[in-house]
Amino acid sequence: MNSIKLKSRAKINLSIDVLGKRQDGYHLVEMIMQTIDLYDLIEVKERQDKEIIIKSNSNEIPLDFNNLVYKAVDLMKNTFNVDKGLDIYIQKNIPVAAGMAGGSSNAAAILVGLNKLWNLNLTEGHLEEIGLKLGADIPFCISGGTALAEGIGEKLTSIEGLSRDVSILVCKPDLFVSTKEVYECIDSKEINKRPNNKLLIECLKNNQTKKLAENMFNVLEEVTVNKYPVIQRIKDTMINNKALGAMMSGSGPTVFGLYENREDAIRCKSILEKQFKQTFVVVCEEKGVEVNG
Ligand code: ATP
Repeated sequence: MNSIKLKSRAKINLSIDVLGKRQDGYHLVEMIMQTIDLYDLIEVKERQDKEIIIKSNSNEIPLDFNNLVYKAVDLMKNTFNVDKGLDIYIQKNIPVAAGMAGGSSNAAAILVGLNKLWNLNLTEGHLEEIGLKLGADIPFCISGGTALAEGIGEKLTSIEGLSRDVSILVCKPDLFVSTKEVYECIDSKEINKRPNNKLLIECLKNNQTKKLAENMFNVLEEVTVNKYPVIQRIKDTMINNKALGAMMSGSGPTVFGLYENREDAIRCKSILEKQFKQTFVVVCEEKGVEVNG
């Protein structure tokens, strides 16, 4: 085998709480992550020389050593003394800098892919350990599905996911949000409303989508909405068009709404996409990465 194709899936957050800050600057979080069926396709082919060449249909991502995929390949090459080169093509569908872990998901996919391509036989746990060196969301993107993420996001407990009967309307307004800046505005001691993750986990377990949607909460939302009121307008549009609930994902600016009825989600999509090109109706998925899928 000298080539491999990967599906690299996005995530949304059903909740985010920030509990504190570590000395190294990382925030301590408690959040529910959910993989969705919006994905980038990554094709990896071995080269005769030792170079890593990245190409993409997107002009929004770096193609050099700043690309998280490049960093992941480099780390794997150095850790396991592999001196093979690779041609990598990233077909970007996940909106960039959106709060959907697009970069982390690509890095996760390449770690899973190289484990196969180079016959390294590493366990998922070992891959997650390697991924954590490059980013706190990468371990979740490797395992995928639905999880409560604690610590800096790397301590994962698998939980029951959203039903695939639920349609998820995802809308990314055309503005750039820096994850770092949003987190820097948060002082965990001054947060006065937090998500009730226990309740949300119960709702998922008992398939109580309406209750879940009404109780979703992201402590980062206020920070980003204050800066970009358009996020609130998208939420309102979803709520006024039959969403059970709507919330910002990650540090934004993507907003998602949960729908019992797919037709309602599609109707609201047609309203939103007049203004926001990157609008999708998706469902949840159980795997973050799929090889040759
Ligand atoms: P998170 O939810 O983890 O904060 P995000 O969805 O907000 O992630 P990304 O799409 O991962 O953000 O992009 C963040 C930055 O990382 C972008 O500015 C982009 O230039 C850079 N980047 C590097 N490599 C990649 C990649 N493979 N895909 C997307 N972005 C990448």
